[in-house]
Amino acid sequence: MKYSPKQMKEQLEKKEFGFKKKFGQNFIVDENIINSIISKADITKDCMVIEIGPGAGSLTYKLAASAKQVLCYEIDTTLQNVLEENLKDLKNVDIIYQDFLEANVKQDLANYKFEKLYVVANLPYYITTPIIIKLIEDEIPVDKIVVMVQKEVGNRFKAHPGSKDYSSLSVYLNYYFEISKLLDVSRNIFIPKPNVDSIVVEFKRKESTYQLNDSQLFFQLVRDSFRQKRKTLRNNLKHYDLSLVETVLNEYHYDLSVRAEQLSIEIFVAIANRLSKKK
Ligand code: SAM
Repeated sequence: MKYSPKQMKEQLEKKEFGFKKKFGQNFIVDENIINSIISKADITKDCMVIEIGPGAGSLTYKLAASAKQVLCYEIDTTLQNVLEENLKDLKNVDIIYQDFLEANVKQDLANYKFEKLYVVANLPYYITTPIIIKLIEDEIPVDKIVVMVQKEVGNRFKAHPGSKDYSSLSVYLNYYFEISKLLDVSRNIFIPKPNVDSIVVEFKRKESTYQLNDSQLFFQLVRDSFRQKRKTLRNNLKHYDLSLVETVLNEYHYDLSVRAEQLSIEIFVAIANRLSKKK
Protein backbone atom coordinates (compact mmCIF):
# COMPACT_ATOMS: atom_id res chain seq x y z
CA MET A 1 0.00 0.00 0.00
CA LYS A 2 1.39 3.38 -0.97
CA TYR A 3 1.25 6.36 1.39
CA SER A 4 3.83 8.90 0.38
CA PRO A 5 2.54 11.67 -1.86
CA LYS A 6 5.22 10.82 -4.37
CA GLN A 7 4.35 7.12 -4.60
CA MET A 8 0.63 7.74 -4.67
CA LYS A 9 0.99 10.37 -7.38
CA GLU A 10 3.17 8.01 -9.41
CA GLN A 11 0.69 5.17 -9.12
CA LEU A 12 -2.27 7.38 -10.03
CA GLU A 13 -0.39 8.94 -12.94
CA LYS A 14 0.64 5.52 -14.24
CA LYS A 15 -3.00 4.55 -14.27
CA GLU A 16 -3.90 7.87 -15.89
CA PHE A 17 -6.15 8.80 -13.01
CA GLY A 18 -7.26 12.44 -12.93
CA PHE A 19 -8.55 13.87 -9.63
CA LYS A 20 -12.17 14.94 -9.94
CA LYS A 21 -13.15 18.05 -8.05
CA LYS A 22 -16.82 17.29 -8.65
CA PHE A 23 -16.44 14.15 -6.50
CA GLY A 24 -14.62 16.00 -3.69
CA GLN A 25 -11.44 13.99 -4.25
CA ASN A 26 -8.71 14.90 -1.77
CA PHE A 27 -6.80 11.78 -0.82
CA ILE A 28 -4.95 11.33 2.48
CA VAL A 29 -1.23 10.79 2.08
CA ASP A 30 -0.16 10.80 5.72
CA GLU A 31 -0.02 7.44 7.41
CA ASN A 32 0.03 8.98 10.92
CA ILE A 33 -3.37 10.58 10.40
CA ILE A 34 -4.79 7.30 9.17
CA ASN A 35 -3.40 5.51 12.23
CA SER A 36 -4.86 8.17 14.54
CA ILE A 37 -8.30 7.86 12.93
CA ILE A 38 -8.22 4.09 13.32
CA SER A 39 -7.10 4.16 16.94
CA LYS A 40 -9.53 6.95 17.97
CA ALA A 41 -12.40 5.16 16.25
CA ASP A 42 -11.64 2.16 18.47
CA ILE A 43 -12.43 -0.44 15.81
CA THR A 44 -12.43 -4.04 16.97
CA LYS A 45 -12.60 -7.41 15.24
CA ASP A 46 -16.36 -7.67 15.73
CA CYS A 47 -16.98 -4.42 13.79
CA MET A 48 -18.49 -4.09 10.36
CA VAL A 49 -17.27 -0.82 8.87
CA ILE A 50 -18.88 1.14 6.07
CA GLU A 51 -16.50 3.48 4.25
CA ILE A 52 -17.95 6.06 1.89
CA GLY A 53 -15.44 6.97 -0.81
CA PRO A 54 -12.34 4.74 -0.43
CA GLY A 55 -10.43 6.78 -3.06
CA ALA A 56 -7.11 5.00 -3.59
CA GLY A 57 -7.74 2.81 -0.54
CA SER A 58 -5.25 4.13 2.00
CA LEU A 59 -7.78 4.35 4.86
CA THR A 60 -9.54 1.20 3.64
CA TYR A 61 -6.37 -0.83 3.91
CA LYS A 62 -5.92 -0.01 7.60
CA LEU A 63 -9.63 -0.36 8.36
CA ALA A 64 -9.53 -3.89 6.99
CA ALA A 65 -6.69 -4.79 9.33
CA SER A 66 -8.69 -3.73 12.42
CA ALA A 67 -12.27 -4.63 11.52
CA LYS A 68 -14.14 -7.82 10.73
CA GLN A 69 -15.41 -6.56 7.40
CA VAL A 70 -15.29 -3.35 5.38
CA LEU A 71 -17.99 -2.39 2.91
CA CYS A 72 -17.12 0.56 0.66
CA TYR A 73 -19.19 2.69 -1.68
CA GLU A 74 -17.25 4.49 -4.41
CA ILE A 75 -18.92 6.61 -7.08
CA ASP A 76 -15.86 6.92 -9.33
CA THR A 77 -15.46 3.75 -11.39
CA THR A 78 -12.12 4.96 -12.76
CA LEU A 79 -10.69 4.13 -9.32
CA GLN A 80 -11.52 0.46 -9.75
CA ASN A 81 -8.13 -0.68 -11.06
CA VAL A 82 -6.28 1.43 -8.46
CA LEU A 83 -8.34 -0.10 -5.65
CA GLU A 84 -7.98 -3.61 -7.04
CA GLU A 85 -4.22 -3.23 -7.05
CA ASN A 86 -3.95 -1.62 -3.60
CA LEU A 87 -6.35 -3.93 -1.81
CA LYS A 88 -5.63 -7.18 -3.63
CA ASP A 89 -4.34 -9.01 -0.52
CA LEU A 90 -7.46 -8.33 1.52
CA LYS A 91 -10.31 -10.78 1.80
CA ASN A 92 -12.57 -8.70 4.03
CA VAL A 93 -13.20 -5.69 1.78
CA ASP A 94 -16.12 -5.36 -0.61
CA ILE A 95 -16.55 -2.35 -2.85
CA ILE A 96 -19.81 -1.29 -4.41
CA TYR A 97 -19.30 1.19 -7.25
CA GLN A 98 -22.33 3.34 -6.71
CA ASP A 99 -23.39 6.78 -5.52
CA PHE A 100 -23.79 6.24 -1.78
CA LEU A 101 -26.80 8.55 -1.74
CA GLU A 102 -28.60 6.13 -4.10
CA ALA A 103 -27.59 2.97 -2.25
CA ASN A 104 -29.95 0.64 -0.46
CA VAL A 105 -27.63 0.20 2.49
CA LYS A 106 -29.98 -1.87 4.63
CA GLN A 107 -30.33 -4.38 1.80
CA ASP A 108 -26.55 -4.44 1.23
CA LEU A 109 -25.94 -5.06 4.94
CA ALA A 110 -28.29 -8.03 4.93
CA ASN A 111 -25.45 -10.05 3.37
CA TYR A 112 -23.28 -9.74 6.48
CA LYS A 113 -23.28 -10.85 10.12
CA PHE A 114 -21.78 -8.45 12.64
CA GLU A 115 -22.00 -7.23 16.23
CA LYS A 116 -21.34 -3.55 15.75
CA LEU A 117 -21.71 -1.23 12.80
CA TYR A 118 -19.41 1.77 12.29
CA VAL A 119 -19.13 4.30 9.50
CA VAL A 120 -15.57 5.55 9.08
CA ALA A 121 -14.69 7.85 6.20
CA ASN A 122 -12.93 10.87 4.84
CA LEU A 123 -16.11 12.28 3.37
CA PRO A 124 -16.45 14.02 0.00
CA TYR A 125 -17.05 17.57 1.23
CA TYR A 126 -19.76 18.47 -1.27
CA ILE A 127 -22.19 15.96 0.24
CA THR A 128 -21.18 15.70 3.90
CA THR A 129 -24.59 16.74 5.18
CA PRO A 130 -26.69 14.60 2.78
CA ILE A 131 -24.61 11.56 3.74
CA ILE A 132 -25.18 12.07 7.47
CA ILE A 133 -28.88 12.73 6.88
CA LYS A 134 -29.16 9.58 4.79
CA LEU A 135 -27.61 7.47 7.56
CA ILE A 136 -30.22 8.81 9.97
CA GLU A 137 -33.29 8.90 7.75
CA ASP A 138 -32.67 5.44 6.25
CA GLU A 139 -32.42 4.24 9.86
CA ILE A 140 -29.11 2.48 9.29
CA PRO A 141 -28.34 0.89 12.69
CA VAL A 142 -24.93 2.55 13.15
CA ASP A 143 -23.33 2.46 16.57
CA LYS A 144 -20.70 5.03 15.69
CA ILE A 145 -19.76 7.40 12.87
CA VAL A 146 -16.20 8.72 12.63
CA VAL A 147 -15.78 11.11 9.75
CA MET A 148 -13.33 13.65 8.45
CA VAL A 149 -15.20 16.79 7.45
CA GLN A 150 -14.50 20.41 6.66
CA LYS A 151 -13.78 22.27 9.91
CA GLU A 152 -16.66 24.77 9.64
CA VAL A 153 -19.17 22.04 8.80
CA GLY A 154 -17.98 19.90 11.72
CA ASN A 155 -18.39 22.75 14.17
CA ARG A 156 -21.98 23.23 13.01
CA PHE A 157 -22.98 19.70 14.00
CA LYS A 158 -22.86 20.55 17.68
CA ALA A 159 -24.81 23.84 17.47
CA HIS A 160 -27.30 24.65 20.26
CA PRO A 161 -30.75 26.31 20.08
CA GLY A 162 -30.46 30.06 19.56
CA SER A 163 -27.07 29.92 17.80
CA LYS A 164 -26.87 30.87 14.14
CA ASP A 165 -25.70 27.38 13.15
CA TYR A 166 -28.63 25.57 14.77
CA SER A 167 -30.50 23.76 12.02
CA SER A 168 -32.73 20.77 11.34
CA LEU A 169 -29.52 18.73 11.11
CA SER A 170 -28.42 19.76 14.62
CA VAL A 171 -31.79 18.60 15.96
CA TYR A 172 -31.57 15.17 14.28
CA LEU A 173 -27.94 14.66 15.16
CA ASN A 174 -28.18 15.63 18.79
CA TYR A 175 -31.30 13.52 19.19
CA TYR A 176 -29.45 10.38 18.14
CA PHE A 177 -25.79 10.98 18.93
CA GLU A 178 -23.20 12.18 21.41
CA ILE A 179 -20.97 14.35 19.21
CA SER A 180 -17.31 15.11 19.82
CA LYS A 181 -14.25 16.28 17.93
CA LEU A 182 -11.45 13.71 17.78
CA LEU A 183 -8.74 15.40 15.71
CA ASP A 184 -7.71 18.58 13.95
CA VAL A 185 -6.32 17.87 10.50
CA SER A 186 -4.15 20.18 8.42
CA ARG A 187 -4.92 20.69 4.73
CA ASN A 188 -1.30 19.72 3.96
CA ILE A 189 -1.88 15.98 4.30
CA PHE A 190 -4.04 15.67 1.19
CA ILE A 191 -3.43 15.49 -2.52
CA PRO A 192 -4.61 17.67 -4.09
CA LYS A 193 -4.41 20.16 -1.20
CA PRO A 194 -7.87 21.58 -0.35
CA ASN A 195 -8.51 25.25 0.54
CA VAL A 196 -9.71 24.46 4.05
CA ASP A 197 -8.64 22.55 7.15
CA SER A 198 -10.55 19.55 8.42
CA ILE A 199 -11.56 17.90 11.65
CA VAL A 200 -12.42 14.32 12.51
CA VAL A 201 -15.76 14.12 14.31
CA GLU A 202 -17.26 11.21 16.21
CA PHE A 203 -21.00 10.54 16.52
CA LYS A 204 -21.73 7.94 19.17
CA ARG A 205 -25.24 6.52 19.30
CA LYS A 206 -26.94 7.48 22.55
CA GLU A 207 -29.91 6.05 24.35
CA SER A 208 -32.14 9.03 23.73
CA THR A 209 -33.83 10.59 26.71
CA TYR A 210 -36.88 11.36 24.59
CA GLN A 211 -39.09 8.64 23.21
CA LEU A 212 -40.44 9.18 19.68
CA ASN A 213 -43.73 7.62 18.57
CA ASP A 214 -43.09 8.16 14.86
CA SER A 215 -39.58 9.02 13.73
CA GLN A 216 -40.57 9.81 10.11
CA LEU A 217 -43.12 12.34 11.33
CA PHE A 218 -40.44 13.87 13.60
CA PHE A 219 -38.01 14.23 10.64
CA GLN A 220 -40.69 15.83 8.51
CA LEU A 221 -41.77 18.21 11.27
CA VAL A 222 -38.20 19.33 11.96
CA ARG A 223 -37.47 19.78 8.26
CA ASP A 224 -40.65 21.78 7.72
CA SER A 225 -40.07 23.92 10.81
CA PHE A 226 -36.66 25.02 9.49
CA ARG A 227 -37.77 25.27 5.86
CA GLN A 228 -37.48 29.05 5.88
CA LYS A 229 -35.24 29.76 8.80
CA ARG A 230 -36.29 33.37 9.39
CA LYS A 231 -39.99 32.54 9.33
CA THR A 232 -42.15 31.68 12.32
CA LEU A 233 -43.64 28.25 12.94
CA ARG A 234 -47.05 29.71 12.01
CA ASN A 235 -45.68 30.27 8.49
CA ASN A 236 -43.54 27.18 8.13
CA LEU A 237 -46.13 24.77 9.51
CA LYS A 238 -49.19 26.08 7.63
CA HIS A 239 -50.20 22.56 6.61
CA TYR A 240 -50.15 21.19 10.15
CA ASP A 241 -52.80 21.30 12.84
CA LEU A 242 -51.68 24.70 14.12
CA SER A 243 -53.92 24.77 17.16
CA LEU A 244 -52.41 21.50 18.36
CA VAL A 245 -48.88 22.77 17.67
CA GLU A 246 -49.73 25.92 19.61
CA THR A 247 -51.07 23.95 22.58
CA VAL A 248 -47.74 22.15 22.89
CA LEU A 249 -45.74 25.35 22.40
CA ASN A 250 -47.76 27.06 25.16
CA GLU A 251 -46.76 24.29 27.55
CA TYR A 252 -43.18 25.42 26.99
CA HIS A 253 -44.07 29.14 27.21
CA TYR A 254 -43.85 29.78 23.47
CA ASP A 255 -46.45 30.53 20.82
CA LEU A 256 -46.66 30.25 17.03
CA SER A 257 -44.56 33.38 16.53
CA VAL A 258 -41.49 31.42 17.61
CA ARG A 259 -38.81 30.43 15.08
CA ALA A 260 -37.51 26.88 14.82
CA GLU A 261 -33.97 27.96 15.72
CA GLN A 262 -35.19 28.84 19.23
CA LEU A 263 -36.68 25.42 20.02
CA SER A 264 -34.95 22.55 21.79
CA ILE A 265 -35.08 18.90 20.71
CA GLU A 266 -37.45 18.17 23.58
CA ILE A 267 -40.07 20.57 22.18
CA PHE A 268 -39.86 19.10 18.66
CA VAL A 269 -40.27 15.62 20.12
CA ALA A 270 -43.30 16.78 22.16
CA ILE A 271 -44.96 18.33 19.08
CA ALA A 272 -44.25 15.26 16.90
CA ASN A 273 -45.60 12.89 19.54
CA ARG A 274 -48.79 14.92 19.98
CA LEU A 275 -49.30 15.07 16.20
CA SER A 276 -48.74 11.33 15.89
CA LYS A 277 -51.49 10.60 18.45
CA LYS A 278 -53.95 12.49 16.25
CA LYS A 279 -53.13 10.50 13.10
N1 SAM B 1 -10.90 7.74 1.47
C1 SAM B 1 -9.98 8.36 0.54
C2 SAM B 1 -8.88 9.02 1.31
O1 SAM B 1 -9.12 9.40 2.45
O2 SAM B 1 -7.79 9.18 0.77
C3 SAM B 1 -10.69 9.35 -0.39
C4 SAM B 1 -11.48 10.45 0.26
S1 SAM B 1 -12.05 11.69 -0.85
C5 SAM B 1 -12.22 13.07 0.26
C6 SAM B 1 -13.76 11.29 -1.13
C7 SAM B 1 -14.04 10.03 -1.91
O3 SAM B 1 -15.46 9.87 -2.03
C8 SAM B 1 -13.51 10.00 -3.32
O4 SAM B 1 -12.94 8.74 -3.59
C9 SAM B 1 -14.76 10.19 -4.20
O5 SAM B 1 -14.66 9.63 -5.49
C10 SAM B 1 -15.81 9.50 -3.36
N2 SAM B 1 -17.19 9.96 -3.58
C11 SAM B 1 -17.61 11.20 -3.94
N3 SAM B 1 -18.93 11.25 -4.02
C12 SAM B 1 -19.40 10.00 -3.71
C13 SAM B 1 -20.69 9.41 -3.63
N4 SAM B 1 -21.81 10.13 -3.89
N5 SAM B 1 -20.81 8.10 -3.32
C14 SAM B 1 -19.67 7.36 -3.06
N6 SAM B 1 -18.42 7.87 -3.12
C15 SAM B 1 -18.28 9.18 -3.43
